[in-house]
Amino acid sequence: MKNGKIGVTTENIFPVIKKFLYSDHEIFLRELISNAVDATQKLKTLSSIGEMKGDLGDLTIRVSADKDAKTLTVTDRGIGMTAEEVDKYINQIAFSGAEEFMEKYKNQAIIGHFGLGFYSSFMVADKVEIITKSWKEGAKTVRWSCTGTPEFEMEETDEAHDRGTTIVLHLSEDALEYAEDSKVEGLLRKYCRFLPIPIAFGKVKEWKDGKYVDTDKDNVINKIEPLWTRKPSELKEEDYMKFYRDLYPMKEDPLFYIHLNVDYPFNLTGILYFPKIKDRMAIEKNNIQLYCNQMFVTDHVDNIVPDFLTL
Ligand code: ADP
Repeated sequence: MKNGKIGVTTENIFPVIKKFLYSDHEIFLRELISNAVDATQKLKTLSSIGEMKGDLGDLTIRVSADKDAKTLTVTDRGIGMTAEEVDKYINQIAFSGAEEFMEKYKNQAIIGHFGLGFYSSFMVADKVEIITKSWKEGAKTVRWSCTGTPEFEMEETDEAHDRGTTIVLHLSEDALEYAEDSKVEGLLRKYCRFLPIPIAFGKVKEWKDGKYVDTDKDNVINKIEPLWTRKPSELKEEDYMKFYRDLYPMKEDPLFYIHLNVDYPFNLTGILYFPKIKDRMAIEKNNIQLYCNQMFVTDHVDNIVPDFLTL
């Protein structure tokens, strides 16, 4: 067992995280899922260059909420962390393993820096636990926990754990909505529906004997392929229409669409669909969504998408 102090220069950054960091507390989930996706992409990279041998197995990232226990759990089967890595990447807030990995392996698929990352979970949790096991041979399971003070506990244990990382948030009383299935599923659909690694939230339910019961099929959030990542030359009119219908099954087909590919002043790819407008009052605002590395960022795109395209 190791006790220590999290390496931040201010004495206690937690009240700051909790109260002031983001007005939008829900983004903690985006941060945790980004880390889980990154950990999985790193493992795939290591496997593709032969540094990791053996079978990758199922790489699905699993999210579950437990109302009675007041917890929210995110589990990945990515690279995991050794005790030294937890010390380096978690115990010292300002240190990013994402940057280091990108530099070493020139991997563009890493989402990395969005904000404060992992520590944003303290916006909604009184206590956070990490149970992790590195992909490295002979690695031991590491348990880390912190109750929102700069003190943490960390120990290496002999308990069996799958390769990868489980993050358990013990939600604070004012954030219990994040233990509600409908809330969590809604957030996952908002942020994660185009991510490149399967994200599962429980099982698909079916109606049986007067109630909904779980089937054995994962309820995968990100089933639709993000069409904008493909080259326009590979796509046909019907692919664009199918994408639109998959996303907006209740809407009429669009009038036309544009596949954007902008290099300057920043790299932007996307598809803009222009709906048929019958009633000028019905123009909906904020209907352009912006994603960074396939993770939803915002639907306020003023100053990003040229004005003439937001009509
Ligand atoms: P960032 O992702 O921007 O680097 P974070 O604070 O979210 O910042 O995470 C810090 C580091 O902790 C990550 O770069 C990564 O090395 C490590 N880490 C966090 N979550 C995981 C995870 N689920 N699996 C493996 N490593 C992780």
